[in-house]
Amino acid sequence: MMQTNLDNAGILYVVATPIGNLEDITLRALRILQEVDLIAAEDTRHTKHLLNHFEIHTPLISYYREKEAERSEELVQKLLSGETIALVSDAGTPGISDPGAVLVKKARTAGITIVPLPGPSALTAALSAAGITDGSFLFLGFPPSKKGQRQKLLSSFVEAPWALVFYESPHRIQALLVDVLATLGDRQAFWARELSKVYEDLQAGSISQLLELATGKKNRGEFVLIVHPASTQQQATGKNVEEILLWYKENTELSLKDVSHRIANDLGISRSNVYQMALELWAATKEES
Ligand code: SAM
Repeated sequence: MMQTNLDNAGILYVVATPIGNLEDITLRALRILQEVDLIAAEDTRHTKHLLNHFEIHTPLISYYREKEAERSEELVQKLLSGETIALVSDAGTPGISDPGAVLVKKARTAGITIVPLPGPSALTAALSAAGITDGSFLFLGFPPSKKGQRQKLLSSFVEAPWALVFYESPHRIQALLVDVLATLGDRQAFWARELSKVYEDLQAGSISQLLELATGKKNRGEFVLIVHPASTQQQATGKNVEEILLWYKENTELSLKDVSHRIANDLGISRSNVYQMALELWAATKEES
């Protein structure tokens, strides 16, 4: 539907804010945050820090996930009565794995003008440094926290020709990498951690290399993980199982039987087939050494 401005109605500005480094705020964001009647913020205490830093004294109202439905009604009424409102989240661009979409949709339905202010997002910052040469990617946000659901989601993208982009927290990155390895194989990947912060960390390598970096350490900082599409020969499942077996063999002390059980359970395939492959692989690597 076309955007129609109602006479005397306010404007809803959707304002991107820094994901770490406060210098990343745009001049336009500062002006709008200063000029609006009200700032709707995911966490008012968090946004207060930002506003204090730039000496902005605009009133704040909370707008968080659990309250989106209720608060958005209230905010649309304010907009209709002529107030201008800036919507911000804790970090980055509202509506990208953050609250915002409900208010934007309701405001548009009510005929309010919506103005997005482009700026920081972990998504675009990570993509800009990932080197995806064909330019196509699929943003999946946070993967499910339950292993079964996560693996089901990943499995549905085995043949997808695009880079897959995920947001992930430090305490789940290792589990995500294990599941990517198990379902999609040892693809090329990239992680961007602590973007724009002091300990910014960009790593490119195979999934098993990234897994090695993430294993046995306390992982700090938030991650964007980008998994490149499979090369042609990686698309064969047999090769994937072999790669996973090798990873377990080189990186853990688990017995051949335990490794086979684990992989078979993870992939939902026959234990005896995996066990047979493991026997052959263990024998082959012994001969080589
Ligand atoms: N709306 C935000 C945006 O535009 O990037 C994303 C909000 S989402 C709740 C938070 C997730 O974004 C984190 O778990 C992490 O995956 C990613 N993220 C946010 N800041 C980041 C940073 N500085 N470095 C790396 N990833 C970051």
